Amino acid sequence: MIEQILDELSAKLNLRKNEIKIYKKSQVLVLGDEILMLKINGVKRIAVMGNGAAFCEFHGDSITPNLKLCPLTHLNRLVINKFLEYTVPKSFGRKQGTFGVGDRLGLATPGHIRIISNSNVKPILAQQSKRELDLTGRTFSKVLDDVTFSVFQEGYKDGFGADGDHLKHGTDISEAIESGYTMITLDCSEKIGFDLESKSSDELIELYKSLPSHLIKGCEEKYLNKPFKFNKSIVAFNKDELVRCVLIYYNAVLYIEHIYKEYILKASRFIDFEVSIDETSYPTTSFAHTFVAQELADLGVNITSLAPRFIGEFQKGIDYIGNLDEFEKQLEIHAAIANSYGYKLSIHSGSDKFSIFPIIGKYLGNKLHIKTSGTNWLEAVALIAEKNPDLYREIHKTALIHFNEAKAFYHVSADLSKVPDLSTVDDAHLLNYFSNDNSRQLIHITYGFILRDESLKIELYETLNSQEEFYFSRLEKHIGKHLSMVGLIA
Ligand SMILES: [Zn+2]
Repeated sequence: MIEQILDELSAKLNLRKNEIKIYKKSQVLVLGDEILMLKINGVKRIAVMGNGAAFCEFHGDSITPNLKLCPLTHLNRLVINKFLEYTVPKSFGRKQGTFGVGDRLGLATPGHIRIISNSNVKPILAQQSKRELDLTGRTFSKVLDDVTFSVFQEGYKDGFGADGDHLKHGTDISEAIESGYTMITLDCSEKIGFDLESKSSDELIELYKSLPSHLIKGCEEKYLNKPFKFNKSIVAFNKDELVRCVLIYYNAVLYIEHIYKEYILKASRFIDFEVSIDETSYPTTSFAHTFVAQELADLGVNITSLAPRFIGEFQKGIDYIGNLDEFEKQLEIHAAIANSYGYKLSIHSGSDKFSIFPIIGKYLGNKLHIKTSGTNWLEAVALIAEKNPDLYREIHKTALIHFNEAKAFYHVSADLSKVPDLSTVDDAHLLNYFSNDNSRQLIHITYGFILRDESLKIELYETLNSQEEFYFSRLEKHIGKHLSMVGLIA
């Protein structure tokens, strides 16, 4: 069949057969129609051959009465979803570990599939935050279109998820669910009382007294004089700790309940619901975690995973900064709390946190969710540095111009004085920028500005497209290192 499609295309379009790249793993028979992904002159198309239902529904150009060439549009994505169940994202619930790979360019998914499919976690292939969508000019729908075509291209049939990441408002959550997303990560940071974190106990007691008396009474009966036992750890609230938790987290708990009941439960399918309380200035204490978990359980809110703010720094694109023993101690208790309430612990900003991965594996096994994102972009730009040095130099200059603006969106500690001047680095050594934490962060956070420059963007996509197999193998290696250090892959 592939031969026949190739023959007809080359005859009708006047192409040599080697100008057509066939993605053999995509080949599938749907009710008698042959469907497969190919690339002609650098542009991907879906070829459909036959005369059945799928052939009728795909939108494209008829090459012969029985052969259509179809562009990778949203409408054709929906047709693929309709006929090929494995291209539709799924939810995985509390027991199945998952690994999130944000892909800002829409090109990385085949590399992700090739490695994560060998692990004992499931991939969350679509994962973009509102901030990333705004900075890249993409939409929930577009991100899922790109992922769906890649899943089809790879013939990957073992299931993947789609995460509307770090969403704060109901409107965005609705949009993500309507676009087909199967996981929602609710960022409650706007409802957490950050301003209270630095207040003294006396100031907090005064505020606490003004809360409704039934709330105070209920919380004190529930939490005081009743130690919570989680595996080997005991969390025993005193009044000060309780006051702090109620004042800082109670509004967030109510907001989580609202989103759960209004959006998550009302969706027409099961949605993995992750709650993130990680965007705070202080690490989440065992008291705060217990309080949020217990309140949600009492309100009947079933979360799939929760992301606390861990001790130490989880900066973008570089290893963990902090004390490993302290991290281990805290992870052990957070893991015990999550385990006792039945949900998975989620690790955010998980890109490149190699020094803590073995500790994470030790306490969480594969009952976890990890999010990575920026590191996939860094792998793409590292490829550019290797294969298209002139383009890399332009990207680097643009990043330098916009670094200070980009810092408003991301917390990084990069020191530009430690980034060697471009004029001193010859082409053969441009890759060294990717083993320097300062230049990694420079390139990491400025992606929105780089992609806003239309000519840079076009050339970047052209280079990555022409080197796609090399990009996939880079990602396999790099994400594979993440998986193997956590112990998720042999
Ligand atoms: Zn987060």
